Amino acid sequence: MDEARTQLSGRCLCGAVTIRVAGAHDPRPGACHCRMCQRWSGGLFLCFEAAADAVSADGPVTRYRSSGFSERAFCGVCGSNLWMRDLESESPYELMPGLFDAARDWPLRSEIYTDTAMASVRLKGEHARATRAEYEARHRHVEGGA
Ligand SMILES: [Zn+2]
Ligand SMILES: [Zn+2]
Repeated sequence: MDEARTQLSGRCLCGAVTIRVAGAHDPRPGACHCRMCQRWSGGLFLCFEAAADAVSADGPVTRYRSSGFSERAFCGVCGSNLWMRDLESESPYELMPGLFDAARDWPLRSEIYTDTAMASVRLKGEHARATRAEYEARHRHVEGGA
């Protein structure tokens, strides 16, 4: 990951959850169009990576075990999505960029599950792309989760 060391602060819609990123993170969100991310986000799922030891969160964080190896977290008051993360303690956070004002100017890094994207969500530009088959050949994934 790029070693961007700017400190970031973010919050959910209601403000009950605050998140601080103080350490390594990659200020280039990736997009995922898998069926799980579509259901969870309502359409387009965006996240950026931050090292586990860089992230701290306060407030009513609620966790949902979305697969055998990962969790998705959201605010227990307003329901804003916060992050997705593998369960190992050293795993990086995949944080929702919309929580952070600083994310406004960040470029898109990559897009995965491009072949299951909804017709209403087609992303232009020169970022890296992978279909479901291309992604699943290289990464741990949920069987039938697309
Ligand atoms: Zn909230
Ligand atoms: Zn996904």
